[in-house]
Amino acid sequence: MQYRSTRGDEKTAINSATAVIQGLAPDGGLYVPVHFPKGQLDLKMLPGIDLPAASRFVLSTLMDDFPQDQLAASIQAAYGKQWDDPRITPLSEAKSGNYYLELFHGPTLAFKDVALQLLPHLMVHAQQLTGNHRDIVILTATSGDTGTASMDGFSNVAGTQVAVFYPHKGVSPIQLHQMLAEPGDNLAAYGVEGNFDDAQTNVKKIFNDQQMKQRLAEHGLQFSSANSMNIGRLIPQMAYYLYAYGQLVQRGAIQLGDPVNFAVPTGNFGDILAAYYCQQLGLPINKLICASNENNVLTDFFHSGNYDKRRTFTVTNAPSMDILVSSNLERLLFDAAGEDVAMVKKLMQQLNSVGHYQINAKMKDYLDQRFVADYADEQQVRDEITRLYQEARYAIDPHTAVASAVTHRYQINSHDQTPTVIVATASPYKFAETVYHSVTLRNDLGEPGLPAIKQLHQALGGELPKAVQALFERADRPEQVVEPAEMEAAIARQLQI
Ligand SMILES: *Cc1c(COP(=O)(O)O)cnc(C)c1O
Repeated sequence: MQYRSTRGDEKTAINSATAVIQGLAPDGGLYVPVHFPKGQLDLKMLPGIDLPAASRFVLSTLMDDFPQDQLAASIQAAYGKQWDDPRITPLSEAKSGNYYLELFHGPTLAFKDVALQLLPHLMVHAQQLTGNHRDIVILTATSGDTGTASMDGFSNVAGTQVAVFYPHKGVSPIQLHQMLAEPGDNLAAYGVEGNFDDAQTNVKKIFNDQQMKQRLAEHGLQFSSANSMNIGRLIPQMAYYLYAYGQLVQRGAIQLGDPVNFAVPTGNFGDILAAYYCQQLGLPINKLICASNENNVLTDFFHSGNYDKRRTFTVTNAPSMDILVSSNLERLLFDAAGEDVAMVKKLMQQLNSVGHYQINAKMKDYLDQRFVADYADEQQVRDEITRLYQEARYAIDPHTAVASAVTHRYQINSHDQTPTVIVATASPYKFAETVYHSVTLRNDLGEPGLPAIKQLHQALGGELPKAVQALFERADRPEQVVEPAEMEAAIARQLQI
């Protein structure tokens, strides 16, 4: 398997280990497979497959430059006792007709753990494979969950440093606590005076700053990224879609070969792209349902073919989806444009310079065949949490509720009867304030953050997951807040260069 940039020449292709270390292509594009192994999935392997086995299949297919034993050891280390469910990503069936794929049983209570418990192991092996002796500096912009999950995954991993930038006042109290309290000598988190897009734009800029690169090299260091722009983040996420499909067959909900829908609460377009890549591999998917919150730039894009980021940025109760520039969409555009890199480059330049672009009819048609899109506002999110709890005694977090509300409406309007899996991306405890109000319909919530978790626990009953309990045992470091223009200096200070 070789990987090339969405904006570059096929001749500059590299293997997956190099792509994992580099994170982003030097030309600003994202790495994609040169020849996608289309249709290589043998469906017969899926019924009852467990998550580690699905992961071994995906990784050995798409990252075939890694020795099998290294992949197996990495997968074993990633999906162990740090998960509070032995199935890792259980598929639950709320009595509401749809299935919820619970991706939040890892140490930081959101789906980013699935990839970020694995990526550090892959990076350590990738360093050996590529003969790279520099230490890796993981540079990450986060809308909340990538930061906490990267810090946990890389905590005290030898040969790595982590610098996380989150929007100051743009993350939930629990996300903030997780970042400030995560133990590890190689970790730092900074609040940026701005929103997620400001943080992400500057991280990309610093990443591609040649002078900074040189300075790092002189100190035996190199940047890499743990954002979903890194294929080492994206590829591990494919495993749970295969697992979910296998579970549906195993339970007799579908016959092998029958199509399913996946509904994905979407921000940077990484998680849903992993589902699309599974479809390319041969997984029978009818529709990919792209669900957004009030930052509904993707909904408008899928409806009109016009991507327009010139709009008000809204901080919502599903903050990990508060994004106006969905980076991974570029990978889908690359396919939709028939791998026309000049076209991708032109569109991305337009987005950068004038803030919008329009795709052509052929590309639009490619998307229409595979995707539907809609959004849910904050009130609809609250109502959906209430509806599901009242109908099925099943508590979902606001991000999951976005996808759940969108799916519910889509099913009523379209009469699409395809069995549908809603991707449950965060634990209800991670966004305890919103969930508490919506589940109890009471207005007696005290302090946000940890006290809200306690109140929610009382309302829901049952056992508190062990990763949630761990939140109560850790103290915060002081918060460090920087202007966007000071981000590079903050990194230099942290690395002492
Ligand atoms: C990151 C995140 C999302 C959005 O995922 P993308 O891959 O960025 O589209 C949705 N929900 C939660 C809880 C998240 O942490």
